[in-house]
Amino acid sequence: MPKPSDRTTKRQRKFKRLPGGRTVKRVKGKMKGKALCAKCGNELHGIPRNARRLSKSEKTINRPYGGHYCSKCMRQAIKNLIQKPA
Ligand SMILES: [Zn+2]
Repeated sequence: MPKPSDRTTKRQRKFKRLPGGRTVKRVKGKMKGKALCAKCGNELHGIPRNARRLSKSEKTINRPYGGHYCSKCMRQAIKNLIQKPA
């Protein structure tokens, strides 16, 4: 019986063959959830779920509100900024 923390579907499973020939199931760390838009909740593209050894430019989107808003919501946010009277 796996320990309670391994009984989740969020953890990836991998079959490993041991030197003795036996195959065992190993449980990897939990996968992060998909990045979502803060405004509409749609999935954000271009943001990796497992980004431990990537550079900053590979982990996020290089534009205003990148990695926070999707492109549609970003356009709306910029339009709202421009249209507001100062
Ligand atoms: Zn959005």
